[in-house]
Formats: sequence, structure tokens, C-alpha cells
Amino acid sequence: MPDYAIGVDLGGTNLRVAAFRPEGQMLEKISVPTNIGAGREHLIQTITEGIRKVTGEHLGERLLGIGIGVPGFILLEKGIITKSPNLPGLENFPMRDELEQRLATKVILENDANAAALGEKWMGAGRGVDDLVLLTLGTGIGGGIISGGQVLHGYLGMAGELGHILVDPRDGAAACGCGSTGCLETQASATAIVRMANEEIQAGRSPGLARHADAVTSAVVYEVAMEGDAEARSIFERMGRALGMGLSVLINTFNFPLYLLSGGVLHAWDLFAPVMLEETRKRSLTLRQSDTRIDKAELGDLAGLYGAARLVL
Ligand SMILES: [Zn+2]
Repeated sequence: MPDYAIGVDLGGTNLRVAAFRPEGQMLEKISVPTNIGAGREHLIQTITEGIRKVTGEHLGERLLGIGIGVPGFILLEKGIITKSPNLPGLENFPMRDELEQRLATKVILENDANAAALGEKWMGAGRGVDDLVLLTLGTGIGGGIISGGQVLHGYLGMAGELGHILVDPRDGAAACGCGSTGCLETQASATAIVRMANEEIQAGRSPGLARHADAVTSAVVYEVAMEGDAEARSIFERMGRALGMGLSVLINTFNFPLYLLSGGVLHAWDLFAPVMLEETRKRSLTLRQSDTRIDKAELGDLAGLYGAARLVL
């Protein structure tokens, strides 16, 4: 009787469910809309139906458990999501216990960026490394820390909020959703790139960006930068500098061998990475004295699914 585990990636837009062999082979994957507007009971039903659809393909096999990556703060011991801006209906609800009861199997909740870091360690760019950090550059910036092969959780499960490392301490620095200002997330996320581009447009500094004033996305800023627009290029340089500051803090703190970046913004790697690497070298004696690697993650948006399944193995 073959064993398998289920990984779930619960996003604000889509729910994805995949089955995995313990060796790491993904067997199949489904994706359904989360439809959070329909309320909590509907969402719990969507999750259980999605999982049952996948387990239905494995009758006669042994399910080892279900891992679920969730965007938000999780109290690990209680299996409760305390804060999730994308899934407000699930806050302070005993989600793990409810799902265990309905599905009659072990369920583990994990922060989505932590799950992605674990996925990269298991089957991605972190294979063969026991200690790594993953930064996920998206709407915000998430972080996951793998130490000794395990997710570093802190005492409640909230460790790894690396998007809120301070990189701009000046008065008037950009406000962050966390309540602070000048966080890495305000300088190096996709949202930050769009904000900085709009600032350039409003100041009348970038004719290239101004042509796209109605529909600025990080991909548009990248295109304009590739056309040679100096202001658009400087946005990616600011992003690189902020990432370099954040990475040097992490390298100086952990002395891990590997630091990974993931997210859609990585297509602009050639524009921000040179500045990022230069800044990191400048600020980290540890980096200059070692063969520490800063690299792209490999699993893309599947990392969280891999990591969620790995939680139960
Ligand atoms: Zn913040």
C-alpha cells in the first residue's frame, strides 16, 4: 500500500491541493477559486471538497496527513490563524481541529512563506542544504527560515516576518501595512515598485513611465526600464539596495550558506541583482569571508504546495 501526503496552498484567490509521494514526487494538483466573499462555512467546505477530490484518486493508499500553507499569522500549538488580511473570515477560528474532525486525518497549518521555504529545502534550490532563508517578493514580502532542516518558528509560530526588516529609518519613509515605516516590503515588493513608479510619474520625472500612468504594474516598470528609462531603472536599483540591506542583516545574523528569492518580480533579476549583491557585500563581513550564496528559488509558486506536504512527512 503506497503512502502519500497532501499539500494545500490556501490563497486569497485560489485554493490548490496536490498529492505527493514521500520521496517528493507530485502526483496531481487541482486548483479551485477560494471565493472568500461567500463566508467561512463555504470556504471550509471548498477546502474539504478539494481535499476529498484528490484523496478520491488514492483509494487503497495510505494518507499520511495534510499540510496547509496559509497567508497569515498562525498560533501553531492551537492550530488557529490569528491574523490574515487575505482571509479575514478565518481569523481566530479553530481551523486545524475543525478540518481534522471533518477529514478524520492529521492536519498541520503553517504560514505560507514558511511552507515555501520548506518546499525549496525539500525539492527546490535548497536541496542538500539544512539552513536557508527564503524571501518571497510579491504584493508584500514574506520570509521563511529553515534551520537544521526545520522551519524556525519562534515561541508562537510567528518568526520569519522578514518583510518588516527596517531598511529606511528616515522620517517620512513609506508607511508599511504592519504599522511601521521604511520596512523592506515598502522598498522591494511588487507593490513598492508600483508605488515608486507612481511617485516618479507624479513628480514628472519619467516620460517613459508617464505613458503607462493608467496601468502601472511591476512588469510595466520593468519594460520601461529595459527601454532605457533612467528613472525606471533607478527604481530597481533602490529595490536592489533595500534587498542588499535586508540580506546583510540576515547573513550577519544567521551565517547560513544559502539565501533564496522568489516571486514574479524575479524576472527583473538582471536589473536589481547587481546592486543587491554589491550592497550585501558592502554590509556583510560574513559574506565577504565565506562562500555564502544568494540565488533564485526554483519551485516558483509551487514551493508552498511542496512545503505543505513535507510538513506531515
Ligand atoms: Zn512592515
